[in-house]
Amino acid sequence: MKKAIIVGGNQGGLNMARCLAEAGFSVEVFEKKERGDVAYDWTDEMDPKIFEELGLPLPDESGWFHKKDWTFVNPNESIKLFVKGGAQAGDLSMYRRPLNEYFYNLIKDKENVTVHYGKKVERLVLADDKVVGVTVDGVRIPSDLVVDCGGAHSEIRESLPESFGIPTRPNPGETFVAYRGFFKPKEGVEEPKYTNKAYLQHIGEKGISWCIYGEGMVDILIGRIDKLTKEDIDRGLAALKKDNPILSDELIKCGFCSIIPVRYPISKMVADGYVLCGDSAYMTIPLMGSGMFCSLLCGKMLAEVLQKDDDCGEKNLWNYQLKFYDRFGAYCGVDVLKRWLLSAEAKDIDFLFEKGIFDEKIMGNGVGGDPIKLSFGEILKKAWQGKSRIGLLLKIVGMLGDSDKVNAIAKKIPQEYDREKIAAWQKELDGFFNND
Ligand SMILES: Cc1cc2nc3c(=O)[nH]c(=O)nc-3n(C[C@H](O)[C@H](O)[C@H](O)COP(=O)(O)OP(=O)(O)OC[C@H]3O[C@@H](n4cnc5c(N)ncnc54)[C@H](O)[C@@H]3O)c2cc1C
Repeated sequence: MKKAIIVGGNQGGLNMARCLAEAGFSVEVFEKKERGDVAYDWTDEMDPKIFEELGLPLPDESGWFHKKDWTFVNPNESIKLFVKGGAQAGDLSMYRRPLNEYFYNLIKDKENVTVHYGKKVERLVLADDKVVGVTVDGVRIPSDLVVDCGGAHSEIRESLPESFGIPTRPNPGETFVAYRGFFKPKEGVEEPKYTNKAYLQHIGEKGISWCIYGEGMVDILIGRIDKLTKEDIDRGLAALKKDNPILSDELIKCGFCSIIPVRYPISKMVADGYVLCGDSAYMTIPLMGSGMFCSLLCGKMLAEVLQKDDDCGEKNLWNYQLKFYDRFGAYCGVDVLKRWLLSAEAKDIDFLFEKGIFDEKIMGNGVGGDPIKLSFGEILKKAWQGKSRIGLLLKIVGMLGDSDKVNAIAKKIPQEYDREKIAAWQKELDGFFNND
């Protein structure tokens, strides 16, 4: 029986363990935190179709509630753009810790799976440029495959040798530092009309904030590109309070910062004996940083590849990256929209919202990670709406064209394993983003 070691035991790592065990591997999961502390003590939004795709029952109703639709707010807060989509499609707000327990319960009695909590994987063991195991507590543990589910800032990915051709760190502008806190609703204040507000370039700063009212709490996120200081959080909170009278000063829980990747999926996810999954491979939707769906689905994708052929060499593992890019390559195009929104001047975004040029369709596709497609008729209509700012409009048309262009590059991913062709494709994809 081949042996897989999984770095990280949040939902992505635990589901990976289940999938690989079912594919016939003996699996050991190492999670550096203690069991009750692993996942966040809050809810996050997720498309429940993932359970169907994984062939699993929906978790118990106590573990989730129905999500409400997003309303986007432009920087000067003149427009509230209600985007129907997620809620109608049945998206759920999932309690993260019970979700983690759900996946733990699916593997805890499996003979070929062991989960170690409070155990950090210190480093990879390499032989001839191949990953052959890890060290934990200074002890070498050999394996055929190491699956890195260690999250956005996986230290294991960051320690990879250059020869693997895997970019080890995100570039500036590719992660959000997000403060999340849950506050008591202010007493005597009317319930808000828009319950799930997402603020783009909130108060003119590079990032987003959100204010979600529900379950007797006000859920606040303040996310800024690359770094977030205490002053940034205080400024964001003060502005959110102004627009959301329901938000009080009383923090009920959380109130700390964490990292979210907001970029296109990593351009190389595999090496001999090693594979990246979930946030460690930046599988999040770049606009909002939603990554739970992909962190789970990639377990199924990898297991399908290994079930067919359990060879853990880079050549066979390349089929896993192909599966991911074939299905989610359009996240590259969404990254173009995200970069544009962050680099644009706040007054330009205000204009686009006020004129209805950024509408429900564009924002809805961005949130869902879908390609941003406009017909010729729609472009003409937008040109008419924005005729007083032709320069800006041309920039939007250029941005939409770039989004198509990078999606076309993503689609050109080499279908057969060939190191040289893969390196050339990576260069083109990474170059597209890093040269702009
Ligand atoms: C504020 C916030 C809001 C979010 N909202 C949403 C949302 O609404 N919808 C959505 O889909 N997603 C959301 N996300 C993103 C989502 O949390 C991630 O995409 C998802 O958790 C990724 O899962 P993962 O298993 O790949 O990685 P992670 O959840 O990051 O888990 C990595 C695990 O690896 C462990 N680990 C790391 N290194 C080691 C090591 N060396 N040894 C042992 N263990 C290690 C860590 O302790 C951690 O438990 C949000 C994230 C944040 C921070």
